[in-house]
Amino acid sequence: MTDADVFAAFPTVPIDRDNIEHYRGLLARRLLINRCSECGRWVYPHRPLCPRCWSWDVVPTEVSGDGSVFMLTLIHQARDPRADPGTPVAAAVELSEQRGLRYLAPLVNCPLDDIGLDMPVRLTWIERDGLARPAFEPAERDREREQGWPATR
Ligand SMILES: [Zn+2]
Repeated sequence: MTDADVFAAFPTVPIDRDNIEHYRGLLARRLLINRCSECGRWVYPHRPLCPRCWSWDVVPTEVSGDGSVFMLTLIHQARDPRADPGTPVAAAVELSEQRGLRYLAPLVNCPLDDIGLDMPVRLTWIERDGLARPAFEPAERDREREQGWPATR
């Protein structure tokens, strides 16, 4: 996947040298967040310098995808009325790797009545505009599936 491929896949995103690996990862269905090699701190939004130890040795690293809902927004109207409104819930998910490490993505596979703050979620992928995009779904759905419980309530 060349840099040109990444730029072409995300024409509306300001891609720079600090975040291009994140977007290259999305194309491979991997959620990469920059992490300091010196002290281990996750650095997001992406910056070239660790805010804790000032190291420039910041490396894109895959996260587990586990987290919890920190904040959410119900989207009642799409910005572009011609566009597919897609999923109506945007969540700031606090990733389990670090307190305060929050990633904004749609929340899917969850009835609106079941959504709550601090709800455990896990990374999943949805397709939008022909590309795989990160999203989150309730983590307990996996446990229900594994144990053969009905997913309906
Ligand atoms: Zn550091």
